[in-house]
Amino acid sequence: MSARQPLHPGALLTIYLGAICDNWRALKARLAGAECAAVVKADAYGLGALKVAPALYQAGCRHFFVAHLDEAIALRPVLHPDATVYVLHGPLPGAEPEFVVHELVPVLNSLRQLDAWRDLACKVDRPLPAILQIDTGMARLGLCPQELDVVAGDPERLRGVDLRFVMSHLASAEDQANPANRAQLERFRAALARLPTTRASFANSSGIFLGADYHFDLVRPGAALYGVAPVAGAPNPMRPVIRLQGRVVQTRTIEAGTPVGYSHTWTATRRSRIATVAVGYADGYLRSLGNRGYVQFDVTRLPVVGNVSMDTILVDVTELGENSIREGSLIDIAGPDLAVDDIAGRAGTIGYEILTSLGNRYARSYVGG
Ligand SMILES: *Cc1c(COP(=O)(O)O)cnc(C)c1O
Repeated sequence: MSARQPLHPGALLTIYLGAICDNWRALKARLAGAECAAVVKADAYGLGALKVAPALYQAGCRHFFVAHLDEAIALRPVLHPDATVYVLHGPLPGAEPEFVVHELVPVLNSLRQLDAWRDLACKVDRPLPAILQIDTGMARLGLCPQELDVVAGDPERLRGVDLRFVMSHLASAEDQANPANRAQLERFRAALARLPTTRASFANSSGIFLGADYHFDLVRPGAALYGVAPVAGAPNPMRPVIRLQGRVVQTRTIEAGTPVGYSHTWTATRRSRIATVAVGYADGYLRSLGNRGYVQFDVTRLPVVGNVSMDTILVDVTELGENSIREGSLIDIAGPDLAVDDIAGRAGTIGYEILTSLGNRYARSYVGG
Protein backbone atom coordinates (compact mmCIF):
# COMPACT_ATOMS: atom_id res chain seq x y z
CA MET A 1 0.00 0.00 0.00
CA SER A 2 2.77 2.45 0.89
CA ALA A 3 4.54 3.91 -2.11
CA ARG A 4 8.05 3.06 -3.18
CA GLN A 5 10.64 5.29 -1.52
CA PRO A 6 11.92 7.97 -3.90
CA LEU A 7 15.72 8.05 -4.18
CA HIS A 8 15.97 11.82 -4.49
CA PRO A 9 12.95 13.18 -2.68
CA GLY A 10 11.93 16.82 -2.82
CA ALA A 11 10.25 16.50 0.53
CA LEU A 12 10.40 14.44 3.70
CA LEU A 13 7.31 13.13 5.47
CA THR A 14 7.89 11.93 9.03
CA ILE A 15 5.09 9.96 10.68
CA TYR A 16 5.20 9.64 14.47
CA LEU A 17 3.71 6.25 15.29
CA GLY A 18 4.19 6.93 19.01
CA ALA A 19 1.96 10.00 18.76
CA ILE A 20 -0.72 7.99 16.92
CA CYS A 21 -0.61 5.39 19.72
CA ASP A 22 -0.74 8.15 22.35
CA ASN A 23 -3.84 9.51 20.63
CA TRP A 24 -5.43 6.05 20.65
CA ARG A 25 -4.69 5.71 24.38
CA ALA A 26 -6.05 9.20 25.07
CA LEU A 27 -9.31 8.33 23.31
CA LYS A 28 -9.53 5.00 25.12
CA ALA A 29 -9.04 6.82 28.43
CA ARG A 30 -12.26 8.75 27.76
CA LEU A 31 -14.28 5.51 27.68
CA ALA A 32 -15.70 3.73 30.71
CA GLY A 33 -16.48 0.22 29.46
CA ALA A 34 -16.36 0.55 25.69
CA GLU A 35 -13.59 -0.84 23.50
CA CYS A 36 -11.65 1.45 21.18
CA ALA A 37 -11.18 0.39 17.55
CA ALA A 38 -9.01 2.13 14.95
CA VAL A 39 -10.24 3.19 11.53
CA VAL A 40 -7.35 2.68 9.10
CA LYS A 41 -9.20 3.03 5.79
CA ALA A 42 -7.61 4.91 2.90
CA ASP A 43 -4.18 3.66 3.98
CA ALA A 44 -4.70 5.02 7.51
CA TYR A 45 -5.80 8.40 6.19
CA GLY A 46 -2.75 8.52 3.95
CA LEU A 47 -0.21 7.69 6.67
CA GLY A 48 0.39 4.00 5.88
CA ALA A 49 -2.00 1.36 7.26
CA LEU A 50 0.63 -1.40 7.18
CA LYS A 51 2.76 0.59 9.65
CA VAL A 52 0.02 2.28 11.66
CA ALA A 53 -2.18 -0.76 12.36
CA PRO A 54 0.57 -3.01 13.81
CA ALA A 55 1.72 -0.11 16.02
CA LEU A 56 -1.83 0.30 17.31
CA TYR A 57 -2.07 -3.44 17.85
CA GLN A 58 1.02 -3.20 20.06
CA ALA A 59 -0.71 -0.39 21.97
CA GLY A 60 -3.64 -2.74 22.64
CA CYS A 61 -6.07 -2.13 19.78
CA ARG A 62 -7.88 -5.26 18.55
CA HIS A 63 -10.53 -3.90 16.15
CA PHE A 64 -9.57 -2.39 12.79
CA PHE A 65 -11.88 -0.89 10.18
CA VAL A 66 -11.14 -0.35 6.49
CA ALA A 67 -13.51 0.63 3.69
CA HIS A 68 -12.60 -1.79 0.89
CA LEU A 69 -12.12 -5.54 0.71
CA ASP A 70 -8.72 -5.02 -0.93
CA GLU A 71 -7.58 -2.83 1.96
CA ALA A 72 -8.57 -5.59 4.36
CA ILE A 73 -6.82 -8.33 2.36
CA ALA A 74 -3.61 -6.29 2.47
CA LEU A 75 -3.95 -5.52 6.18
CA ARG A 76 -4.97 -8.95 7.51
CA PRO A 77 -1.53 -10.65 7.24
CA VAL A 78 0.29 -7.90 9.17
CA LEU A 79 -1.99 -8.27 12.21
CA HIS A 80 -2.12 -11.02 14.82
CA PRO A 81 -5.06 -13.44 14.31
CA ASP A 82 -6.73 -12.17 17.49
CA ALA A 83 -7.27 -8.78 15.83
CA THR A 84 -10.49 -8.37 13.83
CA VAL A 85 -10.54 -6.57 10.49
CA TYR A 86 -13.92 -5.13 9.47
CA VAL A 87 -14.83 -3.94 5.97
CA LEU A 88 -17.16 -0.93 6.06
CA HIS A 89 -18.48 -1.33 2.52
CA GLY A 90 -19.43 -4.96 3.05
CA PRO A 91 -19.26 -7.47 0.18
CA LEU A 92 -20.02 -6.32 -3.34
CA PRO A 93 -22.15 -8.96 -5.12
CA GLY A 94 -20.15 -12.18 -5.49
CA ALA A 95 -17.31 -11.15 -3.17
CA GLU A 96 -18.76 -12.86 -0.07
CA PRO A 97 -16.51 -15.98 -0.18
CA GLU A 98 -13.40 -13.78 -0.19
CA PHE A 99 -14.39 -12.53 3.26
CA VAL A 100 -14.45 -16.09 4.55
CA VAL A 101 -11.17 -17.04 2.88
CA HIS A 102 -9.36 -14.02 4.33
CA GLU A 103 -11.14 -14.13 7.71
CA LEU A 104 -12.63 -10.67 7.40
CA VAL A 105 -15.79 -9.36 9.01
CA PRO A 106 -18.13 -7.45 6.69
CA VAL A 107 -20.31 -4.56 7.72
CA LEU A 108 -23.65 -5.51 6.14
CA ASN A 109 -25.35 -2.38 4.87
CA SER A 110 -28.41 -3.57 2.98
CA LEU A 111 -30.91 -6.43 2.90
CA ARG A 112 -29.14 -7.68 -0.21
CA GLN A 113 -25.81 -7.85 1.62
CA LEU A 114 -27.46 -9.47 4.63
CA ASP A 115 -29.27 -12.09 2.54
CA ALA A 116 -26.13 -12.98 0.59
CA TRP A 117 -24.16 -13.36 3.82
CA ARG A 118 -26.86 -15.52 5.40
CA ASP A 119 -27.02 -17.69 2.27
CA LEU A 120 -23.27 -18.21 2.42
CA ALA A 121 -23.51 -19.12 6.13
CA CYS A 122 -26.12 -21.77 5.23
CA LYS A 123 -23.91 -23.07 2.45
CA VAL A 124 -20.79 -23.41 4.62
CA ASP A 125 -23.00 -24.63 7.47
CA ARG A 126 -21.55 -22.48 10.21
CA PRO A 127 -22.27 -19.02 11.62
CA LEU A 128 -20.39 -16.22 9.87
CA PRO A 129 -19.45 -13.06 11.75
CA ALA A 130 -20.76 -9.67 10.65
CA ILE A 131 -21.70 -6.20 11.76
CA LEU A 132 -25.14 -4.95 10.76
CA GLN A 133 -25.31 -1.25 9.97
CA ILE A 134 -28.45 0.84 10.45
CA ASP A 135 -28.82 4.20 8.74
CA THR A 136 -29.92 6.62 11.46
CA GLY A 137 -29.81 9.80 9.43
CA MET A 138 -27.04 10.02 6.89
CA ALA A 139 -28.59 8.22 3.92
CA ARG A 140 -25.23 6.73 3.01
CA LEU A 141 -24.73 3.15 4.21
CA GLY A 142 -26.91 0.91 6.33
CA LEU A 143 -30.42 -0.49 6.45
CA CYS A 144 -33.07 2.11 5.65
CA PRO A 145 -36.17 2.21 7.90
CA GLN A 146 -38.15 -0.19 5.66
CA GLU A 147 -35.28 -2.69 5.62
CA LEU A 148 -34.98 -2.42 9.41
CA ASP A 149 -38.71 -3.24 9.62
CA VAL A 150 -38.14 -6.38 7.55
CA VAL A 151 -35.26 -7.62 9.73
CA ALA A 152 -36.95 -6.66 13.01
CA GLY A 153 -40.13 -8.46 11.92
CA ASP A 154 -38.37 -11.65 10.85
CA PRO A 155 -35.49 -12.91 13.02
CA GLU A 156 -34.95 -15.69 10.46
CA ARG A 157 -33.26 -13.08 8.28
CA LEU A 158 -30.32 -13.16 10.72
CA ARG A 159 -30.08 -16.95 10.98
CA GLY A 160 -26.51 -18.11 10.54
CA VAL A 161 -25.20 -14.57 11.08
CA ASP A 162 -22.89 -14.25 14.07
CA LEU A 163 -23.90 -10.67 14.84
CA ARG A 164 -20.88 -9.05 16.48
CA PHE A 165 -22.22 -5.49 16.59
CA VAL A 166 -25.08 -3.38 15.36
CA MET A 167 -23.62 -0.08 14.24
CA SER A 168 -24.52 3.31 12.85
CA HIS A 169 -22.59 6.44 11.92
CA LEU A 170 -23.01 10.08 12.93
CA ALA A 171 -23.29 12.77 10.26
CA SER A 172 -22.45 15.92 12.29
CA ALA A 173 -20.65 14.79 15.44
CA GLU A 174 -17.93 17.47 15.27
CA ASP A 175 -20.67 20.09 15.72
CA GLN A 176 -21.63 19.40 19.32
CA ALA A 177 -24.60 21.77 19.40
CA ASN A 178 -26.23 20.16 16.36
CA PRO A 179 -29.56 18.56 17.31
CA ALA A 180 -29.01 15.97 14.57
CA ASN A 181 -26.65 14.13 16.96
CA ARG A 182 -29.30 13.53 19.60
CA ALA A 183 -31.86 12.64 16.89
CA GLN A 184 -29.52 9.99 15.47
CA LEU A 185 -28.86 8.65 18.98
CA GLU A 186 -32.60 8.25 19.61
CA ARG A 187 -33.08 6.45 16.28
CA PHE A 188 -30.13 4.18 17.02
CA ARG A 189 -31.51 3.26 20.43
CA ALA A 190 -34.92 2.55 18.91
CA ALA A 191 -33.34 0.31 16.27
CA LEU A 192 -31.30 -1.60 18.88
CA ALA A 193 -34.47 -2.27 20.87
CA ARG A 194 -36.01 -3.98 17.83
CA LEU A 195 -33.05 -6.22 17.00
CA PRO A 196 -31.63 -9.27 18.75
CA THR A 197 -29.60 -8.25 21.78
CA THR A 198 -26.03 -7.67 20.76
CA ARG A 199 -23.24 -5.19 21.22
CA ALA A 200 -23.43 -1.76 19.60
CA SER A 201 -21.03 0.65 17.91
CA PHE A 202 -21.91 4.27 17.14
CA ALA A 203 -19.22 6.92 17.71
CA ASN A 204 -16.47 8.06 15.33
CA SER A 205 -13.71 10.35 16.71
CA SER A 206 -16.00 13.31 17.26
CA GLY A 207 -18.78 11.10 18.61
CA ILE A 208 -16.51 10.05 21.49
CA PHE A 209 -16.48 13.69 22.61
CA LEU A 210 -20.30 13.87 22.63
CA GLY A 211 -20.22 11.96 25.91
CA ALA A 212 -20.80 8.52 27.38
CA ASP A 213 -24.32 8.23 25.90
CA TYR A 214 -22.67 7.86 22.51
CA HIS A 215 -20.02 5.29 23.41
CA PHE A 216 -21.96 1.98 23.57
CA ASP A 217 -19.60 -1.05 23.30
CA LEU A 218 -17.11 -0.11 20.57
CA VAL A 219 -16.04 3.33 19.30
CA ARG A 220 -14.50 3.80 15.86
CA PRO A 221 -12.10 6.75 15.77
CA GLY A 222 -10.11 7.56 12.67
CA ALA A 223 -9.22 11.25 12.27
CA ALA A 224 -8.43 11.94 15.94
CA LEU A 225 -5.81 9.16 15.90
CA TYR A 226 -4.06 11.12 13.18
CA GLY A 227 -4.16 14.41 15.07
CA VAL A 228 -7.23 16.00 13.48
CA ALA A 229 -9.27 18.08 15.94
CA PRO A 230 -12.41 16.17 16.96
CA VAL A 231 -14.48 19.11 18.21
CA ALA A 232 -15.10 22.08 15.92
CA GLY A 233 -14.20 25.40 17.51
CA ALA A 234 -12.51 23.87 20.57
CA PRO A 235 -8.79 23.44 21.37
CA ASN A 236 -7.39 20.26 19.86
CA PRO A 237 -6.55 17.68 22.55
CA MET A 238 -4.86 15.31 20.08
CA ARG A 239 -1.12 15.17 19.39
CA PRO A 240 0.09 16.11 15.90
CA VAL A 241 1.43 13.01 14.14
CA ILE A 242 3.21 14.24 11.01
CA ARG A 243 5.97 16.58 9.95
CA LEU A 244 6.32 17.46 6.27
CA GLN A 245 9.46 19.30 5.11
CA GLY A 246 10.04 20.49 1.55
CA ARG A 247 13.39 21.21 -0.05
CA VAL A 248 14.32 24.58 -1.47
CA VAL A 249 15.17 24.12 -5.16
CA GLN A 250 16.12 27.73 -5.91
CA THR A 251 16.14 31.19 -4.33
CA ARG A 252 16.11 34.56 -6.06
CA THR A 253 15.79 38.24 -5.28
CA ILE A 254 13.12 40.16 -7.19
CA GLU A 255 12.42 43.88 -7.40
CA ALA A 256 9.20 45.55 -6.27
CA GLY A 257 6.60 45.20 -9.02
CA THR A 258 7.72 41.72 -10.14
CA PRO A 259 4.83 39.24 -10.58
CA VAL A 260 5.37 35.60 -9.56
CA GLY A 261 3.99 32.21 -10.58
CA TYR A 262 1.23 31.07 -12.92
CA SER A 263 -1.27 33.76 -13.86
CA HIS A 264 0.72 36.37 -11.89
CA THR A 265 -1.66 36.33 -8.92
CA TRP A 266 0.92 37.96 -6.62
CA THR A 267 3.25 40.85 -7.26
CA ALA A 268 6.09 41.87 -4.95
CA THR A 269 5.43 45.22 -3.25
CA ARG A 270 9.05 45.49 -2.10
CA ARG A 271 12.39 44.04 -3.04
CA SER A 272 11.82 40.39 -2.02
CA ARG A 273 13.57 37.08 -1.69
CA ILE A 274 11.58 34.20 -3.08
CA ALA A 275 12.29 30.51 -2.45
CA THR A 276 10.98 27.80 -4.76
CA VAL A 277 10.09 24.71 -2.70
CA ALA A 278 9.64 21.23 -4.21
CA VAL A 279 6.08 20.55 -3.06
CA GLY A 280 3.05 21.22 -5.27
CA TYR A 281 -0.53 20.23 -5.79
CA ALA A 282 0.58 16.88 -7.25
CA ASP A 283 1.96 16.20 -3.77
CA GLY A 284 -1.26 17.15 -2.03
CA TYR A 285 -0.39 20.78 -1.35
CA LEU A 286 -3.79 21.94 -2.50
CA ARG A 287 -3.98 24.59 -5.19
CA SER A 288 -6.44 26.56 -3.07
CA LEU A 289 -3.50 27.39 -0.74
CA GLY A 290 -2.02 29.79 -3.30
CA ASN A 291 -1.62 33.22 -1.62
CA ARG A 292 -3.25 31.73 1.51
CA GLY A 293 -0.93 29.07 2.91
CA TYR A 294 1.95 29.50 5.34
CA VAL A 295 5.10 27.48 5.78
CA GLN A 296 7.81 27.84 8.37
CA PHE A 297 11.59 27.99 8.58
CA ASP A 298 12.89 27.44 12.10
CA VAL A 299 10.44 29.66 14.04
CA THR A 300 9.60 32.13 11.26
CA ARG A 301 6.25 31.80 9.49
CA LEU A 302 6.50 32.55 5.80
CA PRO A 303 3.68 33.13 3.28
CA VAL A 304 3.10 31.08 0.15
CA VAL A 305 2.91 33.66 -2.64
CA GLY A 306 1.34 33.22 -6.06
CA ASN A 307 -0.43 30.14 -7.36
CA VAL A 308 0.57 26.64 -6.27
CA SER A 309 2.17 24.79 -9.20
CA MET A 310 2.03 21.05 -9.80
CA ASP A 311 5.52 20.48 -8.36
CA THR A 312 6.39 23.68 -6.50
CA ILE A 313 5.28 26.50 -4.26
CA LEU A 314 6.87 29.94 -4.04
CA VAL A 315 7.60 31.28 -0.57
CA ASP A 316 8.38 34.87 0.40
CA VAL A 317 11.47 34.45 2.58
CA THR A 318 12.38 38.15 2.74
CA GLU A 319 12.01 38.12 6.54
CA LEU A 320 14.84 35.63 6.88
CA GLY A 321 18.48 36.65 7.01
CA GLU A 322 20.20 36.77 3.62
CA ASN A 323 22.04 33.46 3.99
CA SER A 324 19.75 31.49 6.28
CA ILE A 325 18.32 29.35 3.51
CA ARG A 326 19.91 28.04 0.37
CA GLU A 327 19.29 25.38 -2.24
CA GLY A 328 18.59 22.11 -0.45
CA SER A 329 17.39 23.75 2.78
CA LEU A 330 14.32 22.20 4.38
CA ILE A 331 11.20 24.29 4.95
CA ASP A 332 8.41 23.04 7.22
CA ILE A 333 5.17 22.59 5.29
CA ALA A 334 3.12 20.85 8.00
CA GLY A 335 3.94 19.77 11.53
CA PRO A 336 3.51 20.57 15.19
CA ASP A 337 3.49 24.35 14.52
CA LEU A 338 1.60 24.05 11.23
CA ALA A 339 -1.49 22.10 12.18
CA VAL A 340 -3.22 20.04 9.54
CA ASP A 341 -6.51 21.66 10.60
CA ASP A 342 -5.11 25.16 10.06
CA ILE A 343 -3.85 24.23 6.60
CA ALA A 344 -7.27 22.74 5.87
CA GLY A 345 -9.03 25.87 7.06
CA ARG A 346 -6.90 28.04 4.75
CA ALA A 347 -7.53 25.63 1.87
CA GLY A 348 -11.29 25.60 2.44
CA THR A 349 -11.40 21.92 3.38
CA ILE A 350 -11.05 19.60 6.38
CA GLY A 351 -7.97 18.00 7.93
CA TYR A 352 -9.09 14.60 6.64
CA GLU A 353 -8.63 15.75 3.04
CA ILE A 354 -5.19 17.26 3.72
CA LEU A 355 -3.98 13.93 5.17
CA THR A 356 -5.50 11.69 2.51
CA SER A 357 -4.08 13.95 -0.23
CA LEU A 358 -0.46 13.56 0.95
CA GLY A 359 1.41 12.50 -2.15
CA ASN A 360 3.67 9.58 -2.91
CA ARG A 361 6.76 11.56 -3.96
CA TYR A 362 7.77 12.07 -0.35
CA ALA A 363 10.47 10.12 1.44
CA ARG A 364 8.48 8.66 4.30
CA SER A 365 10.02 7.77 7.59
CA TYR A 366 8.32 6.27 10.61
CA VAL A 367 9.39 7.13 14.12
CA GLY A 368 8.46 5.08 17.20
CA GLY A 369 5.73 2.51 17.47
C1 LIG B 1 -14.51 6.90 8.43
C2 LIG B 1 -15.45 6.31 9.41
C3 LIG B 1 -15.18 6.37 10.78
C4 LIG B 1 -14.04 7.19 11.36
O1 LIG B 1 -14.47 8.54 11.38
P1 LIG B 1 -13.54 9.71 11.96
O2 LIG B 1 -14.41 10.91 11.84
O3 LIG B 1 -12.35 9.79 11.08
O4 LIG B 1 -13.20 9.35 13.36
C5 LIG B 1 -16.02 5.67 11.65
N1 LIG B 1 -17.06 4.98 11.18
C6 LIG B 1 -17.38 4.93 9.87
C7 LIG B 1 -18.56 4.17 9.42
C8 LIG B 1 -16.58 5.61 8.95
O5 LIG B 1 -16.91 5.59 7.65
